[in-house]
Amino acid sequence: MERQPGTEELIGVDQARDTILAGVVALPPVALPLLDALGLVLAEEIVATEDIPPFRNSAMDGYAVRAADLTGAAPRRPVRLRVVAEGPAGYAPQGEITPGTAIRIMTGAPLPPGADTVVRFEETDEPQRGNAPAHGPRALEVAIGVAQGPWINVREVGEDVRRGQVVLQPGALLRPAEIGVLASLGRVTVQVHRRPIVAIVSTGDELVEPGRPLRPGQIRNSNSSTLAALVRRYGGIPRPLGVARDTVADLTATLDAARDADLIVSSGGVSLGDYDMVKDVLRAEGRIAIWQVRMKPGKPLAYGHLGGKPFLGLPGNPVAAFVSFELFARPLILRLLGHTDLRKPTIRARLTAAVDNRGGRRHFVRAIVTAGSTGPLVRPSGEQGSGVLTALTRANGLLIVPDDVEYLPVDALVEVEMLHWEQGSGDVIAVPD
Ligand code: AMP
Ligand code: MG
Repeated sequence: MERQPGTEELIGVDQARDTILAGVVALPPVALPLLDALGLVLAEEIVATEDIPPFRNSAMDGYAVRAADLTGAAPRRPVRLRVVAEGPAGYAPQGEITPGTAIRIMTGAPLPPGADTVVRFEETDEPQRGNAPAHGPRALEVAIGVAQGPWINVREVGEDVRRGQVVLQPGALLRPAEIGVLASLGRVTVQVHRRPIVAIVSTGDELVEPGRPLRPGQIRNSNSSTLAALVRRYGGIPRPLGVARDTVADLTATLDAARDADLIVSSGGVSLGDYDMVKDVLRAEGRIAIWQVRMKPGKPLAYGHLGGKPFLGLPGNPVAAFVSFELFARPLILRLLGHTDLRKPTIRARLTAAVDNRGGRRHFVRAIVTAGSTGPLVRPSGEQGSGVLTALTRANGLLIVPDDVEYLPVDALVEVEMLHWEQGSGDVIAVPD
C-alpha cells in the first residue's frame, strides 16, 4: 500500500470510497429519549404492545345511533331520535343506545354500547340549532336526514396497529412520523445506533483560529468550522481539536486527544511536498495509504487507521476539503450511524452553460440547480478554483462530469448530487421520474 513520495497510487473515486467503507459497521445501540432519536437509525424491532386505536371510537363529530333506526330516512323525511347523553372524547361512554335513541358524540370518543354507526352533524338538524357547547344544554331530540349502514364514521380497535404487529424494523430512519408512532405505542425511549464522535484536526503553520489577529503570511482556519458543520449535518458529533503545526511532534500531540473518537478527519498536509507529516504519524500504526484520487477538486487523500479508528486525511484547499468530505467522510459517518443507503440524492438536469473537464478526473462542479419548464436546469455557480469557498455558498448541487468526458455542451443531460434541499434555499426543483 505504501509508496515513495511522488509515486502515490492513482485510483478512481468509487474504488477509494469502497476501500474506505470496507469493514465499517454501525456503532452499538444506545437508548435515547424519543426526540433525541430524531434522524437516527433504529436498532431494535418495534412490536406493538397495544392496539391503536385501543377502543372503537367515532371518526366524526355527530350522533352515535343504531343503523337500523335510520331505515328510510331522507332529507325531507328525517328520523327523529331521542338524545340520551353526550359522548365527549376522553371519557368512558356515558350511556347506552337502545332503539330510538342517539348519543351526541365527539371525534375520538368511545362508541357507546348499542351504537353501530355515527351520523355527522352535517346530516342532522344540528347546524340549524347552532353549535351547542359540548357539555351544555342540548336538544332532547335530533332529526337525521340520511340512512346509512353500520360502521360508518367508526374507527375500529387496532385499525392502525394491531397488538403483536411489527411496526418498525431495525434500520428504519426515525423521522417525525416514526417518532409519533413510537409515542402512540407508549414508548419514552428507543434503541438507536449512537452518533459517531468525529475528531477534526487542521494542519498548517499558516493557520490562525478565527477571532485572533492575522500576522503576515497567515490565513484563518476555516476548514475546522466547515468540517465540523458537515459532521453535525450528517449526524456525527464534531470534536474540533484545533490546528496542528506542520511537524510530526505537534500533529502527534494533537491527535492524542482523538483517542475516544470513532473517526478522525484531518485537513491539509497530504499534498505533494508536505504529505510526509500525516504519513509519518500514521505509519506508527502501520496502516496508511496516500492516494491520488482521480477527482477535481481534490486529488490527494490519505486513508488509514490510528488507534484502530479510521483516519481520513483530506486536502487543505477549502473546496477540495469540502468535496472530499462529501464523497468519503459522509458515507463513512452514515455507515457508522447504521444507514444502508449511502448515496447522495441525485437528479438529472439539463446544462445551460458548457463545462470543460481536462485531465481525466471526475469533476465535481459547484452548481446551481433551478426548475425549468421541462425539468431541472443546472449551471456552474461561478469561479471553480479549489480555494473559492463562496462558489460553494451559491451552489445547491455538485454537477458530475465523468472521468473520461472532456467537454459537456449546453443542453447535455447531467447528473447532479444535491447538496441541500432544505427550506429557505429558495429552490423549487421538479424531480423527473
Ligand atoms: P495543504 O493541503 O496543506 O497544502 O493546503 C492547501 C491550501 O489550503 C493552502 O493554501 C492552505 O493554506 C489552505 N488550507 C489548508 N488548511 C486550511 C484550513 N484549515 N483552513 C483554510 N485554508 C486551509
Ligand atoms: Mg499545509
